[in-house]
Amino acid sequence: MKHVLVTGGAGYIGSHACKALASAGYVPVAYDNLVHGHRWSVKWGPLEQGDIADRTRLDDVLARYRPVAVMHFAAHAYVGESVTNPGKYYRNNVAGTLTLLEAMRDHAIDKLVFSSTCATYGVPQHLLLTEEHPQHPINPYGASKLMVERMLADFDAAHGLRSVCLRYFNAAGADPDGEIGECHDPETHLIPLVLDAASGKRADITVFGSDYDTPDGTCIRDYIHVGDLAGAHVLALQALEAGAASAAYNLGNGQGFSVRQVIDAAQRITGRAIPITIADRRAGDPPVLVGDATRIRDALGWSPRHADLDDMIASAWRWQQARERRMGEAV
Ligand code: UDP
Repeated sequence: MKHVLVTGGAGYIGSHACKALASAGYVPVAYDNLVHGHRWSVKWGPLEQGDIADRTRLDDVLARYRPVAVMHFAAHAYVGESVTNPGKYYRNNVAGTLTLLEAMRDHAIDKLVFSSTCATYGVPQHLLLTEEHPQHPINPYGASKLMVERMLADFDAAHGLRSVCLRYFNAAGADPDGEIGECHDPETHLIPLVLDAASGKRADITVFGSDYDTPDGTCIRDYIHVGDLAGAHVLALQALEAGAASAAYNLGNGQGFSVRQVIDAAQRITGRAIPITIADRRAGDPPVLVGDATRIRDALGWSPRHADLDDMIASAWRWQQARERRMGEAV
């Protein structure tokens, strides 16, 4: 049995990765402190509750399962919060990851797939971002992820710990089978909030800035289905197992949608009116982030199955409606 330690395995993207690992024949061991993760989203292998900063706990779990590799998702990931509370981000995302890497080194686990981000690029100097674009993050969240990329390069050079850094654009959607989906507390991401407004759970959606230099004045992002992200992690792991060198890849669809376009699509898909309120720009937000994923398509044969924004919103809507029904029944 090939175990893979999945830090943050009870979280949104981590749980989808666990499902993808299980379908590829691995046993995912979700290692999660359950601060943001959910026990109910761990379905395809054991849950080991623990923090990446807890070296003793990590030693215990690594020694017990002897995983062939680690997929590292555990991180704080709110751009706005990282601006107001940077210490939290450097403590967990950087120092916590360092503890994990040292534990891996000492247990001779030499393969890691890392959940990085397009926020490491900062403000784009040209439209379609390739992996060669300079990395000058404009918020502590992006800076914390870039520091890990740097640590990974150094751990490879010094200890032969090979890694694949996957720089995600905006993860969206839910498991097409409806088994898991997005559930953050607090929720700050655009699509689930828009759907909350559609279902009446919130009165409206606040649009952060309508004076950007974009066609409709709102920010443009590249949305990628969470299942396509998960699939890319398995391909990256298989490449590392086959001896591939360390690499970094963008994961996006190469197509951008504005905040207004997302809201319009959600109105169409849900058939509900979604009231909007225009507010100031949110600190740390670049105007446009769209990724070129040619490199991972060529190197690993990755290709997205759910590239259509409407599909992503529809799967998120189905998941959200089903969850509300279940919660209603539980009351
Ligand atoms: N956004 C918004 N209102 C919200 C949440 C997000 O206008 O209530 C915008 C945000 O400014 C960004 C885009 O939607 O331009 C996507 O934000 P999200 O937080 O979903 O992802 P991020 O790009 O920060 O990873």
